Amino acid sequence: MNIHEYQAKELLAKFDIAIPAGFAALSVEEAVAGAEKLPGPLYVVKAQIHAGGRGKGKFKELGADAKGGVRLAKSIDDVRADATEMLGNTLVTIQTGDAGKQVNRLYVTDGVDIANEYYLSMLVDRATGRIAMIISTEGGMDIETVAHDTPHLITTITIDPATGFTDADGKKAAAALNLSGDLAAECEKLTANLYKAFTSLDCEMLEINPLVESADGKLLVLDTKMSFDGNALFRHPELLPLRDETEEDPAEVEASKYDLAYIKLDGDIGCMVNGAGLAMATMDIIKLNGAFPANFLDVGGGATKEKVTAAFKLILSDPAVKGILVNIFGGIMRCDIIADGIVAAAKDVNLSVPLVVRLEGTNVEQGKEILANSGLPIVSANDLGDAAKKIVAEVKQAA
Ligand code: ADP
Ligand code: MG
Repeated sequence: MNIHEYQAKELLAKFDIAIPAGFAALSVEEAVAGAEKLPGPLYVVKAQIHAGGRGKGKFKELGADAKGGVRLAKSIDDVRADATEMLGNTLVTIQTGDAGKQVNRLYVTDGVDIANEYYLSMLVDRATGRIAMIISTEGGMDIETVAHDTPHLITTITIDPATGFTDADGKKAAAALNLSGDLAAECEKLTANLYKAFTSLDCEMLEINPLVESADGKLLVLDTKMSFDGNALFRHPELLPLRDETEEDPAEVEASKYDLAYIKLDGDIGCMVNGAGLAMATMDIIKLNGAFPANFLDVGGGATKEKVTAAFKLILSDPAVKGILVNIFGGIMRCDIIADGIVAAAKDVNLSVPLVVRLEGTNVEQGKEILANSGLPIVSANDLGDAAKKIVAEVKQAA
């Protein structure tokens, strides 16, 4: 789960991490009211979307010369003008794709006199199975470019889970940024607190770009992106209200309501499968037969009628789908119960495309009988190869 910059900053502040003062705003009036509470004379108005590269982004509705999604404002009137121009318009950045994202929220924050911009991020490194802190003196810009052109300017600190973040790790971080004296001490404290935030919130990724040294010698978090491990969210009821569904893919939001693992793909054969491994195998065998899957969809172990119906609706909401292949192994769940669910769901959604079903496992014969007696044009298949051949043929015939 991703959250907005202002939400991430509010969370970091609780871990004694220095952030400039700021206020979130849903309207021009709120943006102005927020600015009035700040000392000035420099304000920054920032678009809140779940994508980076806002500063260099362009608004679709505004001319090519218009300012981007992070704007320095020198007066309250400028804040008002910028907020008016940004709210409701569509910001396109290197991370949003061509469609861009509509700006519905702003963050109005203190303008900082910047002496230096640094980069710092943390993530779970799958190769070492540990949390890695990635640090660079080259902040404010695209870190992929830094990694490609000047990899020696990036330092990675791998943190041992047995000791947690140590003083030595903090010293390495300060050294990577060439800091000394008070700033080095500040950096050591900051990185230790970031590690605490990362682990206690079960983050998946935390990126600070830029981390800045201000002209008056302080280290401040100017921009941050934070995402959480979805599998750990049950431990954090306090984080759930931070979710902004308007930033997510609508089909994937719908899927998550029913606890379905759904990812949209480019093909035309919708798949409904239980178990991620079987789902992968099903996608492979569709390809082997010369067609392409329209989605990955794992309905999970306990596929109830409600889940199966929701899954059918989800698959059919994709206009590219020309046929559906259901491939379910009835282990804990019996095949007759699954068949009942499929028949009820197919009736419920007025199924309009060919449907091939392959069931295997407990009570498979009863399950097949239910499908055959349903009065629906369901094609039954005997094994995975047979199922794939049948759905590909059905779709070709219908085309
Ligand atoms: P993005 O990464 O989405 O472009 P940032 O928040 O990193 O957005 O802003 C882009 C640039 O704008 C920063 O690298 C920094 O130079 C400047 N900036 C951002 N916030 C402030 C601020 N509060 N004060 C001064 N400059 C800022
Ligand atoms: Mg940034």
